[in-house]
Amino acid sequence: MRKPFIPLSVPSLQGNELKYVTEAIETEWVSTAGPYIQQFEEKVSGYVKAKGAVAVQNGTAGLHTALQLLGVSSADEVIVPTLTFIAAVNPIKYCGADPIFMDCDDSLGLDPHKLQAYFEKECVFQDGVLRNKSTDKTIKAIVVVHVFGNLADMEGIMKIAERYQLPVIEDATEALGSYYTSGRYAQQYAGTIGTLGVYSFNGNKIITTGGGGMIVSNNIKLIDRARYLTTQAKRDSLYYIHDDIGFNYRMTNIQAALGIAQLEQLETFIETKKQNYFQYKKELAEVNGLNLLSFRKDTRPNYWFYAIEVDKSFGHSRHKLIELLGNHHIQARPIWDLIHQQIPYKKNCAYTIETAPKYLESVINLPCSSNLAKNDVSFIVATLKRLSAGIEEDKS
Ligand SMILES: *Cc1c(COP(=O)(O)O)cnc(C)c1O
Repeated sequence: MRKPFIPLSVPSLQGNELKYVTEAIETEWVSTAGPYIQQFEEKVSGYVKAKGAVAVQNGTAGLHTALQLLGVSSADEVIVPTLTFIAAVNPIKYCGADPIFMDCDDSLGLDPHKLQAYFEKECVFQDGVLRNKSTDKTIKAIVVVHVFGNLADMEGIMKIAERYQLPVIEDATEALGSYYTSGRYAQQYAGTIGTLGVYSFNGNKIITTGGGGMIVSNNIKLIDRARYLTTQAKRDSLYYIHDDIGFNYRMTNIQAALGIAQLEQLETFIETKKQNYFQYKKELAEVNGLNLLSFRKDTRPNYWFYAIEVDKSFGHSRHKLIELLGNHHIQARPIWDLIHQQIPYKKNCAYTIETAPKYLESVINLPCSSNLAKNDVSFIVATLKRLSAGIEEDKS
């Protein structure tokens, strides 16, 4: 019998999506003005307890805007992890600046110890300005990525950022809903700890607007300027006076209508993802050579993506395992290739990258949709068990 296909991550649109989108269409507010946009901004900023929010076309546009808000230009360099989706890096180049690639720690996020070592050994800090000794360029900002919804070590990273007076942009595109439960940032959400945070509502993210994103901050000046820059930098909307070069980056009312309906379900999605995560954890414990990566202690993660390490003792390589799961109609995916090894970034500085390659070699993602059923999880683990024991031979 042909089993149904189990995708890696697909959206679930079973709430008020149709109702609100219909309303947007019936009222003919479909573009970048309309009541749902402001409502969505207020609901997201209320949920994560940020002072302000600006809804944009997608996470990449949000990250580009965030860098512009910090004044990143061609005279600058920006710290970014190499283990990330490339959209955390490309906007640095859109600004004409260069990325400096950092290693990850075991949370898959930026390693604060390497960051400190890099600043101490390779940079000079004078009059509040940090310079790269080898290029003489200013290091202007740090981009942190909360990989798979797991918070990066924000306590460690923020301490260093404060020491060197650097603003921090949190790429929280995968981490809407994750927050610290204790420590310096207790009850603070991913995206609201640094200077600016960015969420994505792409189709594979924890909530979706088809395509969409949001910038959040506790600095209202930055939020006001973000709204201005993302609407063509129009100072006067009657006479069309522009004081800067802006962008057409605003979210539409239709997207925002979807977003509000999705946000209503976010905590339910997280609860399902959490239950499936712990079911995987329990059942995978019996499979030799596979280790489900943990989320950071002292946090409530959003459990967005599940990552397993494939050890040699499993009996198949990571590559082979993805192929074999595909034969069983289960979609799995390797973690992203490291950005500092890719053609556009090969010439950029990469500082002692040692941990990221280990995860690159071993990690795959398993199906994790917010509507994944318990028996799907059991079927996936049972398949892994058979593959591990060598009962299931390679039929490809
Ligand atoms: C999805 C994602 C982005 C970009 O978001 P889009 O809305 O797709 O532009 C950026 N960084 C990371 C880590 C992501 O996963």
